[in-house]
Amino acid sequence: MHPFAFSRVSTVTAALNAGARDGRYIAGGTTLVDLMRETVERPAHVVDINGLPYKDITVTRQGLYVGSLVRMSELAAHPEVRATYPLLSQALELGASAQLRNMASIGGNIMQRPRCPYFRDVHSACNRRDPGSGCDARHGDNRMQAILGTSTHCVATHPSDLAVALVALDAVVQVRSLDGTRSIPVQDFFLRPKDTPQNEHSLRPGELITSLTIPSGAHTRRSGYLKIRDRQSYEFALASAAVALDIRGGVVRGARVAVGGVATVPWRLPKVEEALVGKRPGRRTWTDAAALAVEGAVPLSENAFKVRLVERTVRRQLMTIGGQ
Ligand SMILES: Cc1cc2nc3c(=O)[nH]c(=O)nc-3n(C[C@H](O)[C@H](O)[C@H](O)COP(=O)(O)OP(=O)(O)OC[C@H]3O[C@@H](n4cnc5c(N)ncnc54)[C@H](O)[C@@H]3O)c2cc1C
Ligand code: SF4
Repeated sequence: MHPFAFSRVSTVTAALNAGARDGRYIAGGTTLVDLMRETVERPAHVVDINGLPYKDITVTRQGLYVGSLVRMSELAAHPEVRATYPLLSQALELGASAQLRNMASIGGNIMQRPRCPYFRDVHSACNRRDPGSGCDARHGDNRMQAILGTSTHCVATHPSDLAVALVALDAVVQVRSLDGTRSIPVQDFFLRPKDTPQNEHSLRPGELITSLTIPSGAHTRRSGYLKIRDRQSYEFALASAAVALDIRGGVVRGARVAVGGVATVPWRLPKVEEALVGKRPGRRTWTDAAALAVEGAVPLSENAFKVRLVERTVRRQLMTIGGQ
């Protein structure tokens, strides 16, 4: 680990001042400390933000407010979240381990870096870690890598399960800097790698995530998350599907579908959604819509299995949420 300064702040102003002076925020530390140990990340100044007042969960008729320092386990177990936003609870509980979920924050979760083994090995070529150095994953061990939203510069999947649920539910990220506050729709928060894979999100230097808001709707109650992985716990997704359906009068009135484990960013599926709206729930509807999930997929040498897998994952979750 490289030497670094450490400070603990108790006011938002102190945090923002430190952020503006190149300080790096730390919440649960479950990802940042790992990367610092591997020397992948070398911040000169680490700023503990756990003294800040972003720890509330509020459920209103309009939607859900979640402070960025709320722990994954706390949000998952919140009784109203469990009842009204089952997709969120499930996505959180299927991520990491119980110990990690107790420590890890909501803000830190959506800011986590790729799990690509080459990114984490400082002796490998990796355009995210070292822009312009190349990408050892493209022709190397790429079984876990993405088939959607890739570029010649990077094929790493986005690792967050929560982020897939947030994209499906049209969450908004609230951020703060010394210049004021702004809101970023979560769809615009995560950036596809394109020519600059080192730019993973739209947060500006020093900006602090303060909270997330998630609008409520008829679809939020009828929602859920399916995660397919190599083993049943403590593993990242090979493919996952977040589905939220508004079904009234025997017709699908609204549909939100996003997938994880297969794309460079949490991946919304507008064509699948369009194919569902106005249809009667049933096996034919789910199968036809799920077939559109993989449009534009570009498999690598070892991950072509993800094409069928993601289609089946979406279909199975549509059946679970919408009925057969
Ligand atoms: C073994 C293992 C298995 C895992 N499995 C899964 C999994 O299956 N699914 C999954 O989704 N995740 C998984 N994770 C990732 C885990 O969920 C993240 O490590 C965790 O959510 C990060 O939260 P944190 O608060 O500890 O972040 P930290 O490590 O404290 O911070 C992470 C990053 O976020 C930044 N940051 C933190 N808070 C803020 C803020 N408020 N504003 C701006 N920037 C901020 C930090 O500067 C840092 O860059 C796994 C992790 C491990 C170690
Ligand atoms: S896939 Fe992305 S993160 Fe992995 S080595 Fe290539 S550039 Fe780096």
